[in-house]
Amino acid sequence: MSGASAVLEPGIPVVIAPGGYISFEIETGQRLRLAQPEGEQVADFISFNRDDVRELLSMHSSRAVNLSWRFTAPDTLYSNRTREMWKIEEDLTRENYCGGGFCSEHLNIARYGKAAKGASNCQSNLEAAIRGYGMDRWSFNTDACFNIFMTVAYDADGKWEIRAPKGKPGDHIVMSALMPQIVAISNCPVLFNACNNFRLKPLTLEILK
Ligand SMILES: [Zn+2]
Repeated sequence: MSGASAVLEPGIPVVIAPGGYISFEIETGQRLRLAQPEGEQVADFISFNRDDVRELLSMHSSRAVNLSWRFTAPDTLYSNRTREMWKIEEDLTRENYCGGGFCSEHLNIARYGKAAKGASNCQSNLEAAIRGYGMDRWSFNTDACFNIFMTVAYDADGKWEIRAPKGKPGDHIVMSALMPQIVAISNCPVLFNACNNFRLKPLTLEILK
């Protein structure tokens, strides 16, 4: 029995509401298209080997094999066992953050103060998305998270900063699954910084036919 929040029928797109989340399963060889109908919206994306959820996406392994910190088509993404999980086939925005991490209540309070207490965040969204599988906060970690459509600057003077996203309306990424997986996505609900350019927007998701 699947613990997913949704079942994706190939060819039928679904909407992830602004600030919302989803979990679903994908088979080897299926292609996933994630789109920003209005642009400028970040997706926090994690995935697990469906047959052994101790194996999950790893930004560290992916950087080390790709010798890159900017994954886009045609890069391959790897698991924490350095096995192939995803192949990025198309990427119109070509702007994804590959350092790992997701916003959480504790991180947002440290960065933005009391206003962040109780505010929506990607960690809570991802937890909620996988709860149906009996998984929890400790089933995933910051290394697992691919921040699709997110812009982070690494300036020459050492500054690290989230900046306004660059996605145009209708931009999408297509990734093909290289193993059967459980996928969880948070449609990032953060308004404290430029991550989503201060307005939350929908995302659409489709397993292509
Ligand atoms: Zn977030």
